[in-house]
Parts: sequence; structure tokens; C-alpha cells
Amino acid sequence: MNKALRRPVIAGNWKMNQTPAEAKALIEEMKPLVKDADCEVVLCVPFVDLQAAMDAAAGSNIRIGAENCHWAQKGAFTGEVSAEMLKAMGVPYVIIGHSERRQYFGETDQTVQMRVRAALDAGLTVILCVGEYLQQREQGITEEVVRLQTKIALGGVSAEELKRIIIAYEPVWAIGTGKTATAAQANEVNHAIRVCVGELYGKDAADRLVVQYGGSMNAGNAKELLAQPDVDGGLIGGASLKAADFSVIVGAAS
Ligand code: PEP
Repeated sequence: MNKALRRPVIAGNWKMNQTPAEAKALIEEMKPLVKDADCEVVLCVPFVDLQAAMDAAAGSNIRIGAENCHWAQKGAFTGEVSAEMLKAMGVPYVIIGHSERRQYFGETDQTVQMRVRAALDAGLTVILCVGEYLQQREQGITEEVVRLQTKIALGGVSAEELKRIIIAYEPVWAIGTGKTATAAQANEVNHAIRVCVGELYGKDAADRLVVQYGGSMNAGNAKELLAQPDVDGGLIGGASLKAADFSVIVGAAS
């Protein structure tokens, strides 16, 4: 699998953190630190921060994303935000299927598929999250779990649309816990995801697919994780709220 075909993507996931003023200040701090990055730099931020973040990032190499979107274009879905609304704002990226959405907000593989569909229809690039629970890893079914999540989420996605999909492998037991998958574990599952996508879309598409690792990636462990042949970047939670740490990770991917 040829890593040179893929440009790494380092994406921050701010989760439910930062007011618009704090978002602006953090991006201003990050801009000079990541300006020479030889990778894509994305910050996925709360809906209320999107405009402030885009204004602050304008003219820089930082791209902005949302953390979720609804499957309908509009309608009676109180509290939700559609992919069309994100598109109208000029937001290019959206995270879909994050484990916190699956765990706390009833997100299922089916709703993930519907949200992916809506995001692609709106022209967005999707960061699709998959990953196993600790119990599933201990049962030895990690690969089956992520393959199923991947296949369902990609149901109906064309080969052309796949170019706007990034897959983030995020073992649930490693998110926000300080427990990182070893570089070998991350690479093994990322590779399995690539093989799965290859079965669906062919080798060339698989070779071009960006597969990130996410789960307690930080300034100390990023280099080893990102050096793995099937790890093409990271989805970073906690460390994306600290400009210096995030920029070290960006540097490790560059
Ligand atoms: C995440 O939110 O996707 C994540 C990986 O979080 P953390 O880096 O804090 O584990």
C-alpha cells in the first residue's frame, strides 16, 4: 500500500469546548505554528464556533469542519444542523459517527450512513469515525466490528464520492482516556479498513484512502503512530485544544 499516494490529514476535534472568542484566540495562536505544514490541517469545532473559526482561519492553511450534521436537508429536527446549512456557511469538513455520538446520542450505523449521504450530497468532505469497544477488542472481534461499521457507513457511496471520505479509526477505549493504541495495533486496524475498502472499491481507491488514527494521540506519541505505513494522519481531541501540542502533531505528520 503506497503511502506516498496519500496526503496526511491532521484534524482536531474540539468536542464541546471553546466559546467563539476562545476559538478565535486559539486559532490565532495556532496559525503561525502550523503555517508550514506539509499535510492538511483541519479543526472541527462546535456549531456556534464555526463562523468565528472560519473568520480567524481565513487566508491560512487551517480548514474548518463541524462535528456532526443531520441527514435531512431541513425540517422538524429541533436542535439539529443540516449538511446543507454547513455548505451554505462554506464549511468544507464534517465528522460523522464519532463514538461519543454513538455512545451518548443514540447514533447507529444506519444513522451514520444517512448522515454520510447527506454530507456527500452537500459537497462536504466526511471524517467517518469507526472503532471498537474494549470488550470487543478483548473478544477478538475488532476487525469484524470496524469492517461492518465501514461497510454500512459507505453503503451507497460511489467511487467518485469516496474521494471525499476520510476514515478515522478510533478505538473507543483510547478516546479521552490517555490509553493509546500501540503503533502496531493502530496500523493493523487501519490496514484492515484499507483492505475492506479495497474489496469494495478496488486497490487504487484503497491506496488513495486517507485512514487516520484517533485516541489519545499527543505530542509525545504522534511521531511513532504517524510513521506507520497505514496511518495517514490523526483525529485529535484533547491535544487539539493546546496550540503547542497540536502543532507538534502537525509537524510529525509533515
Ligand atoms: C476524539 O475526540 O476523536 C479523540 C481522539 O479524542 P482524544 O484525542 O482526546 O482521545
